[in-house]
Amino acid sequence: MEDRENDYLSEKAGGTDPAEDQEEEYEKVCYVCRRPESKAGKMITMPGNMNLCHDCMQKAFDSVTNGNLDWSKIQGMPYMNMNFSDFQNMNIPEMEIPKKQKVKKKSEGKKVEFQWKDIPAPHMIKKKLDEYVIGQEKAKKVISVAVYNHYKRVYMAAKGETDDVKIEKSNILMIGPTGSGKTYLVKTLARLLDVPLAIADATSLTEAGYIGDDIESVISKLLASAGNDVERAEHGIVFIDEIDKIAKKKNVNTRDVSGESVQQELLKLLEGADVEVPVGSNQKNALTPMETVNTDHILFICGGAFPDLEEIIKERLTKKASIGFDAELRDRYDQDPDILSQVTNEDLRNFGMIPEFLGRLPVTVTLQKLTKELLVKILREPKNAILKQYVKLLELDEVKLTFEEEALEWIAEEALKRDTGARALRAIIEEFMLDIMYEIPKDPGIGTVTITRAYLEKTGGPMIGMRGSLLPHA
Ligand code: ADP
Repeated sequence: MEDRENDYLSEKAGGTDPAEDQEEEYEKVCYVCRRPESKAGKMITMPGNMNLCHDCMQKAFDSVTNGNLDWSKIQGMPYMNMNFSDFQNMNIPEMEIPKKQKVKKKSEGKKVEFQWKDIPAPHMIKKKLDEYVIGQEKAKKVISVAVYNHYKRVYMAAKGETDDVKIEKSNILMIGPTGSGKTYLVKTLARLLDVPLAIADATSLTEAGYIGDDIESVISKLLASAGNDVERAEHGIVFIDEIDKIAKKKNVNTRDVSGESVQQELLKLLEGADVEVPVGSNQKNALTPMETVNTDHILFICGGAFPDLEEIIKERLTKKASIGFDAELRDRYDQDPDILSQVTNEDLRNFGMIPEFLGRLPVTVTLQKLTKELLVKILREPKNAILKQYVKLLELDEVKLTFEEEALEWIAEEALKRDTGARALRAIIEEFMLDIMYEIPKDPGIGTVTITRAYLEKTGGPMIGMRGSLLPHA
């Protein structure tokens, strides 16, 4: 009995609590001025886990000795006029600073070890992307090289190599129709590189001071996705979607808050700057701790569908060609499914992007509109393909699910009609799979189900095979 008690006590004394260990990794934040320990200096921890920096503590004492200030009247500091002993007898949950508002400590002195071997070569990046993203070969290749170069640059900086040859940032501009895989490519990329990713929508961004998200909120999101670890965030990826929506508007006299000025404000982020961001929130206020994030090594990818850009390209190409063949040429360009790949900076400027902004996105990637063949492949081939997911689900009921080739073509044709690229696929499948997923488990005798085109066109049913019988019957 005594031994067990001793064990328990020694465990208490020497054993490390994993929660405590985790706690160690986070900086304390002053309850009054919200500065983290790395900025405000050592904190004084009071009962109830309330931390105060020396400055605020001193101010509190000064005010108490110099005047009759009632701290309890000051919003946000309701406990300032209490004695320490009062705290001990109180259970004050709201005084616990939520973990997500805490800032991860910077590892002192040592920089993040960015190993050369950690950076996969372009062909390896592409090979991994191939497992998930169908088609878009050129885009995958360009991105693989750009990302490789980006992390080479990060590696050189981490090693302190400051050569005469300064490698420029390889931020990427991604142009492609809705549902062609822009977001999906970036998500897959971040996952395989194991770096934090933030996805923001350019339409929600506004110039500082206006209703909407500040530009810095993008970095705030990245910091959150990096678990409030500043160093990890500084090597992350930011994807800003719908970037075409902040094009300069033509012929407007009113001040343009969401367009050109947002492009202007994004410049400093894209290039590399120290940004003060609130931790654990995208609102700056007195109660949110702030942290500085340097964006120099963050890879920015801006994506958009750029409607009408094709027209601008075609116009330029026809104008350039000799006069007289206009109609014939236009026809040829109209047929070209990959006309976007001929885009130039001039076209993008005509679209409404400002030159400085384009200058900070030196790599342009274009994605093709997905064809019927590619849509069928998307259904079937990626590692986490939708069809594979349904097959797996029915496997648990010991039912083998298959799809007729013509059925897959029907799904792709339907998706093309909706004109939202691969996005439509899941919705279409879900519509008809609902009945299958509902009915099949009812009958334990069913062993196989084949989805036919007739079933999808509502002129027939799926082919059902019973367990033990060799022939499926409709
Ligand atoms: P957008 O180009 O509008 O950003 P998304 O990347 O969001 O399109 O695509 C929507 C969904 O369609 C993705 O989640 C993914 O499942 C699928 N998808 C789109 N393009 C591809 C592709 N090329 N290969 C595989 N799946 C794709």
